[in-house]
Amino acid sequence: MQDTPGDGTGPGLLSVDQRTLLVCCFILAAAMGQMNFTGDQVLRILAKDEKELSLLRDLEGLKPQKVDFWRGPARPSLPVDMRVPFSELRDVKAYLDSHGLAYNIMIKDIQVLLDEEREAMAKSRRLERSTSSFSYSSYHTLDEIYSWIDNLVTEYSDIVSKIHIGNSFENRSILVLKFSTGGSQRPAIWIDTGIHSREWITHATGIWIAKKIVSEYGKDCILTDTLKAMDIFIELVTNPDGFAFTHSMNRLWRKNKSSRPGIFCIGVDLNRNWKSGFGGNGSNNNPCSETYRGPFPQSEPEVAAIVDFITVHGNFKALISIHSYSQMLMYPYGHSLEPVLNQKELYDLAQEAVKALRKVNGIEYIFGSISTTLYVASGITVDWAYDMGIKYAFSFELRDTGRYGFLLPASQIVPTAQETWMAIRTIMKHTLNHPY
Ligand SMILES: [Zn+2]
Repeated sequence: MQDTPGDGTGPGLLSVDQRTLLVCCFILAAAMGQMNFTGDQVLRILAKDEKELSLLRDLEGLKPQKVDFWRGPARPSLPVDMRVPFSELRDVKAYLDSHGLAYNIMIKDIQVLLDEEREAMAKSRRLERSTSSFSYSSYHTLDEIYSWIDNLVTEYSDIVSKIHIGNSFENRSILVLKFSTGGSQRPAIWIDTGIHSREWITHATGIWIAKKIVSEYGKDCILTDTLKAMDIFIELVTNPDGFAFTHSMNRLWRKNKSSRPGIFCIGVDLNRNWKSGFGGNGSNNNPCSETYRGPFPQSEPEVAAIVDFITVHGNFKALISIHSYSQMLMYPYGHSLEPVLNQKELYDLAQEAVKALRKVNGIEYIFGSISTTLYVASGITVDWAYDMGIKYAFSFELRDTGRYGFLLPASQIVPTAQETWMAIRTIMKHTLNHPY
């Protein structure tokens, strides 16, 4: 526990202040109707074989919209993590026991982590206000990120600008940062973060990287060479409605917020809504599912905006889509087990990127194609990019491997961003050196 420095009151008083603030936070949260996850747990199961995996898959049908898979049943070598509401814990544990499926409790009480996260944000907000400086080691709301974007483009107007590429279902602006040293329609690299709104570490990493790019231009050779020949585009909040909702109501919301007449459940999984392989395995046609693909390809404004932008631009050479968690670096395809044409090149590049990442903090990533490393998933961003002719298409799953899952403490933001940047830089360098 750290005290808030520098406001001139004694340590005893400070802790009272902090407690008062915390109580205020809770009252405010309750008043705003924020979902409470007291007693909810994340359970981990290591399935031994396909049969055990399918028993776990059955849980989704047995407990619709109750069991929330954080790491879905994929293959026996990968753990399955699921959030189980307090009210369902007894049933679910009985189900696991009755089938001889052993489990570990990864998170004993989700609300405890959420309270800590909220308290850390409130503390950092006070500090940011008093020092007028943005903290890269804290999580931020949509408004805070959008005003940070405005400050960045004002301060570094020679190298970065802001492009409005569309509006979300709830009419929020969809913004992209463009890093450019001139030219028109130069070959370009795309990075998006936060397409799944609860993956907060991805937005925070994107913000840190954006700042890194403006500060390291002219210093870091690889970045400088890249920006002399190419433009870099970053979409920090790819799912603005979902992200706003993770702050206002449900911290664990994944999809966007679209609704359609006659359909009870809300939201489409934006990483199942792309045209490539749309509707195939690893996507769901049930609107209540967390992997609901939507009624037709690119039905969602958040996806359509990117499709239009990248298509009209016509000169993207690399695309990097950032998710969490699991510590993986992957390339197409997701919808098919078939290797892509340059699979050897992508494998070697992923290996090199993961090595550069590991050098920073010793964090281990696994890598390979999506369908063979993780699971078959259809209608995803990187498959679409690859089929569009962007042959350097990668998808990250950032930290961690499940200790905190989507609730990664803010203290891990900067180290995560630093190591991720080294992997991205490796991909940038390869893209620069292999023009096509
Ligand atoms: Zn994701």
